Amino acid sequence: MAFEGLSTRLQNVFSKLRGKGKVSEDDVAQAMREVRLALLEADVNFKVVKDFIAKVKEKSVGKEVMDSFTPGMVIIDIVNKELTELMGGSQAKLAKANKPPTVIMMVGLQGAGKTTTSGKLAKLLQKQNHRPLLVAGDIYRPAAIKQLQILGEQIKAPVFTLGDQTSPVEIAKQGLQHAKDNGNDYVIIDTAGRLHVDEELMEELRQIHANVNPDEVLLVVDSMTGQDAVNVAEHFNSSLELTGVVLTKLDGDTRGGAALSVKAVTGCPIKFATLGEKLDAMEPFHPERMASRILG
Ligand code: GDP
Repeated sequence: MAFEGLSTRLQNVFSKLRGKGKVSEDDVAQAMREVRLALLEADVNFKVVKDFIAKVKEKSVGKEVMDSFTPGMVIIDIVNKELTELMGGSQAKLAKANKPPTVIMMVGLQGAGKTTTSGKLAKLLQKQNHRPLLVAGDIYRPAAIKQLQILGEQIKAPVFTLGDQTSPVEIAKQGLQHAKDNGNDYVIIDTAGRLHVDEELMEELRQIHANVNPDEVLLVVDSMTGQDAVNVAEHFNSSLELTGVVLTKLDGDTRGGAALSVKAVTGCPIKFATLGEKLDAMEPFHPERMASRILG
C-alpha cells in the first residue's frame, strides 16, 4: 500500500506523543529526530527534510502548544498541516483552455507509465463527459502506438496516429487539427520517452510544445524511484516548464520520497496519482488526504 513504510514509522513516533498530558522541549526534539530519520529513510530530499523539521519544531515549542491540554495531538496536527503544504497545500486542478480543445502533453522517461497514464486520463475525462482524443506521438518505442490503440479501444476513445514514419511534431500538429475538426475538447499527446534524460529528446519535446502550445505539460514519473523521480522532474522542468506532475505506481510506493519532495524541489504541483495497472486506477492528487493517509 502507498506510503506504508513511512506511515508505520511516523505512527510509532506519534503514538508516544499522543497520550502525553505534558510535552517537554526534549520530547519534541526527540520526536523530531525520529521524524527526520523516518523521512530520510523514505527517500525524501535532505534539504526538504531539513526545512520541514525546522518549521515543525518552531511551531511546536511555542507556549500555546506546550500549555494545551493535548500537546501531542497539537503537534501531530502541525505535522499534518506541514506535510499537506509540502505536497502542494490543495488539489491542483487540470488547466482548461478558454477555447477548446485543451491540449495536454504527456512527457517522461520510458517505463514511467506515460502511455497507460494517457489512457487513464482520457478515461477520467470521459467520466466528466468530455471527448478526449489520444495522439500517438511516441514513434520510437516499438509497441507504443499499438499499446495506445488498444487502450483507446478499451475505453472507446479515438486514437490519432500517422504510424512511425512521420515526425512527432507533425503528428502532434495534425492530431490537434483532427481534434478541432471532430469536436474533441481534450487532446492528450503521448510523447516519446528515453531511458535517461537526453538533449535530443528535450529538443523534440520543445518543438512539439512550440507547435501545439499546450495548456498542460504533465510529467509522468514513477514514484517508486524516489529521488531519481525528483531529479528527472528537475531536468524536465529546466528545459520544458512543466505545469504538473503525475506520480505513477503509488500502489507500490511504500516510502513516499517522491510524493513528499517533488513539489518542494521543483515548484511543480502534483496533479494526479495512479495506483494500479487498471484503467480507472487514477485519481486527482489531494495533498491533505495524502498527509492524513501517511499519519494514519
Ligand atoms: P511508458 O514507457 O512511460 O509509456 O510506460 P507504460 O505506460 O508502458 O507503463 C510501464 C509499465 O508500468 C506498464 O507495465 C504499466 O502497466 C505499469 N504501470 C503504469 N502505471 C502503473 C501504476 O500506477 N501502478 C502499477 N502497479 N503499474 C503501473
